[in-house]
Amino acid sequence: MPTPLVVGNWKMNPPSIAEAVALAQALRAPLGAVEGVERVVCPPFVALPAVADALAGSPIVLGAQNVHPQPKGAFTGEVSGAMLQGVCSHVIVGHSERRHSLGETDDFVNAKVLAVLGLGMTPVLCVGETLEERDAGEASAVVERQTAAGLAGVEPGDVTKVVLAYEPVWAIGTGRAATPETAQEMIGGIRAHLVRLTDSATAAQVRLLYGGSVNAANAAELAALPDVDGALVGGASLDPDAFVAIARAFATRA
Ligand code: PEP
Repeated sequence: MPTPLVVGNWKMNPPSIAEAVALAQALRAPLGAVEGVERVVCPPFVALPAVADALAGSPIVLGAQNVHPQPKGAFTGEVSGAMLQGVCSHVIVGHSERRHSLGETDDFVNAKVLAVLGLGMTPVLCVGETLEERDAGEASAVVERQTAAGLAGVEPGDVTKVVLAYEPVWAIGTGRAATPETAQEMIGGIRAHLVRLTDSATAAQVRLLYGGSVNAANAAELAALPDVDGALVGGASLDPDAFVAIARAFATRA
């Protein structure tokens, strides 16, 4: 069983670098003390250096919320993987807020996965269906398509270097998490797809996260699911007590 992983996606929060540093300082001791689980926080780009300083020497590592697949060039407003090297170990790619609000395609997300892997960092590849797709009975097909497209061109031996996060769009920021049955069904389906892409030993080693309204109250039942190796957490990751409780719930899974 892979080491569990919790990733906090701070999104465009907190509103200032000083508050991001204060959040990191509040997390540092209690989150650092939770053993048996890898802990990643993903502040906004501009806060990364200050948060890195605040967490220096702690076991909590940093992730970025996005990356551009090209190493440099005329891409106004974008940040390359090379710029993140040495600061971040993880990079979220394909978050639904970028797929759906900013029009990121499966091919573009795949290019990011390959770029992040090529630089020796860990992509956290987000997949998940909208409510319309679920209601139309297309949830599994959408997630399978996003998974296959996101992993296109990844060497079979590198698949374990990718983290996959199943994040149903209808559960993100809504307070309506997937039921444990749905989370297990969908994430078990991703694991089965990985077996077909690689082999069962490799697929068993890939970290599969659930994301979508994870909180301190529902983390334990999600952590008990056989295929859920961790959580990608948005809103609750801004509350140190809640994020530490979520990390503890997954640590007991190890
Ligand atoms: C997310 O943004 O990835 C997320 C899961 O958000 P929330 O936990 O707030 O639903």
